Amino acid sequence: MTTLFDFNNRAFKAFVESAPVLCLAADRDFITTYVNPFYKKIHNITLDEAVGKHIKDIIGEEGFNDNLDYYRKTLAGNIVERHGSFHKLDGSIHHYHATYAPIWKEDEVVGITGVVLDITSEIEIEFTNKQLTAINEEFEKAQSELTKLASTDPLTNLYNRRYFTEISESIYKLAVREKEPVSIVMIDIDNFKPINDTYGHKAGDLVLIKLSQILTDAVRKSDVVCRFGGEEFIILLPKTGKPYAKVVAENVRTNIEANTVEVNNDVAINFTASLGISTFMQPEPEQLERLINEADEALYRAKELGKNQVFYEDQ
Ligand code: GH3
Ligand code: MG
Ligand code: MG
Repeated sequence: MTTLFDFNNRAFKAFVESAPVLCLAADRDFITTYVNPFYKKIHNITLDEAVGKHIKDIIGEEGFNDNLDYYRKTLAGNIVERHGSFHKLDGSIHHYHATYAPIWKEDEVVGITGVVLDITSEIEIEFTNKQLTAINEEFEKAQSELTKLASTDPLTNLYNRRYFTEISESIYKLAVREKEPVSIVMIDIDNFKPINDTYGHKAGDLVLIKLSQILTDAVRKSDVVCRFGGEEFIILLPKTGKPYAKVVAENVRTNIEANTVEVNNDVAINFTASLGISTFMQPEPEQLERLINEADEALYRAKELGKNQVFYEDQ
């Protein structure tokens, strides 16, 4: 019979001696009977030095114990595959994938062979990658914290004026492009200085925090609420004409009026605010500043007319 491949001993030897994996054989007492040249790269031992030595004395006790159960399964007649790792005699870690096979003589297992792939560098790369991913995640977290810090007011947690300038520009441009109405509500606490003067600066801060909550509760997700200055706030309402802007503003005003803020433990204080509205039904390019100024003028009118009210120019 002709075979395409004559697997004679010489070919077998050539395979084993050129293989970039560890090949070994041992008898039933774990005395080494063969190691291939690649073996030296991992365990620093030649064929001559290895033959006759117990496996334990070549790879160390930790490595031997790591494998013992698998050697035994192999001696019982099974082919065994496994991943493992142990410290070599030089102290360095060795990660490997091994296949052990029984050496049969008639119907008896007289020893085992091992073909062992060293996967230390792959595992180390994987480990490094994991560490890099973790570092990256930390970095991204820190970065988003920084972005948040740069865009929010620490007292009220609302967006700050810097962020408002950026976001309002984009929202306004979109309104121009889509030919959709856009409104602004400007809010200023009435007689805030006397609140500070009477109850203290901390009490004033509590009033600012309370107002921030009222504003946040009164708007939709798409609206932008911002602390514009000391006790002045601004709301940008995209896709909103005057009727709904009035509803929001009046809602805010009545909620402020109905609320009390507890300061200095047992003192409950009331406060009010004045609000100015401006709306562009068909916003024109580069007119955001005018929209803001008109809301500011409306707010000024609300103050002039006696405070605690919403003012809007009727067009
Ligand atoms: P009006 O009714 O006309 O608006 O008068 P007002 O007293 O509210 O306004 P004024 O501009 O005279 O005073 C604003 C005060 O707000 C003065 C300032 O010390 C105070 N203020 C600004 N920022 C803060 C802050 O973060 N916390 C506290 N507690 N007070 C602040
Ligand atoms: Mg004020
Ligand atoms: Mg003010």
